[in-house]
Amino acid sequence: MIEDREFLMIPGPVSVEDRVLEALARPVRAHYGDSWTQLYKRAVSGMRDVFKTAGEVQLVFGSGMAGVEMCIASVLSRGDAVLVATNGLFGDRMAEVATANDLRVHTARPGLAEPITAEHISAALAAHPEVRAVCVVHHETSVGVLNDVEGICRIARERGVLTIVDGISAVGGVPFEMDAWGVDLCVTVANKCIGGPIGVAPVAAGRRALEALADGRPKAAGWYLNLATWRRFAEQWSGWHPHPTTMPTNVVEAFDVALTGLLEEGVEHRWRRLAGARDRVREGLEEMGFRMLSPIATASPVTTAAYGLPGMDVSDYMAWLLREHRIRIGGGLGELSGRIFRIGHMGRAAEPDAIDRYLRATADYLDGHLRGRPRA
Ligand SMILES: *Cc1c(COP(=O)(O)O)cnc(C)c1O
Repeated sequence: MIEDREFLMIPGPVSVEDRVLEALARPVRAHYGDSWTQLYKRAVSGMRDVFKTAGEVQLVFGSGMAGVEMCIASVLSRGDAVLVATNGLFGDRMAEVATANDLRVHTARPGLAEPITAEHISAALAAHPEVRAVCVVHHETSVGVLNDVEGICRIARERGVLTIVDGISAVGGVPFEMDAWGVDLCVTVANKCIGGPIGVAPVAAGRRALEALADGRPKAAGWYLNLATWRRFAEQWSGWHPHPTTMPTNVVEAFDVALTGLLEEGVEHRWRRLAGARDRVREGLEEMGFRMLSPIATASPVTTAAYGLPGMDVSDYMAWLLREHRIRIGGGLGELSGRIFRIGHMGRAAEPDAIDRYLRATADYLDGHLRGRPRA
């Protein structure tokens, strides 16, 4: 497999195809001019098809959280009330970003690994009618659980509340329909389900978000992580430099390669393929006696979280996989630390050969370390 480098089967970052790596190694080009602008606009337009929106897309140079901060701070003013629904680490981070931007944060928290539903949001909005926006993570990667973004957005729309969705580990790999579901703002990244390089956070904004952006109220955002700045450059410098700053040109080129691959495969096909990889891993682990953190109905199609077997040292298993097979898997976070492990099904981790190698290695580990012990 990947020679002496580690092969990533964590839920991000992900190992990418060679053609994506090759684009990163090309000579540096400038971030302006005709051919650059053409490439950039092609990627923007491709991302509209992935988000499934007729709205506006910006390719923000930064991490996923930069995009989350941009969404929150661009449409809300200091002192505004927001509802952050959270069932894990990344939902908690959205609350942290909102707090750091001087918003008044209310949270809705179902139990650990329990999905967030329309009912949770409905109850929280009834308790806090002054809330202007609901923030939610689509796929809470820390527990491998999918939240009901479609139902949440329906409720928020009925109340005239904006929706801000962290689709970082979902968009491109999990069924998502920005316009049909009525999502107002959504962010993703190049290096999770899209299988691109690290460094670009596509941000999509629908009509209501653009209205909020231009409603004349001073917003929490500064200059760089402000959607209004990015829109202004996309319009006024459209012909040669449709973004405010220097861009990581190699990264955008590599992103374009990955995005073209996704669109050629077909977005719906990608959703099915990754879910198929999930099924293969889940069934393989279940056959060995592992118990899953979540039932299939709420489990993410792109990440599997499983408990260690009785008597099994999860961190020893993870270290052994890395040492003996160069396969890196994810661990549990917070109170699940040492109790669960997480396998990502994005990027090259979804390849059938990679999954077979991983499952064989796990069976070998159990033979070597848990022989004679009960398997469930
Ligand atoms: C990976 C991840 C993030 C963090 O993204 P960065 O690029 O590290 O900023 C945020 N939210 C979710 C749901 C993620 O999976």
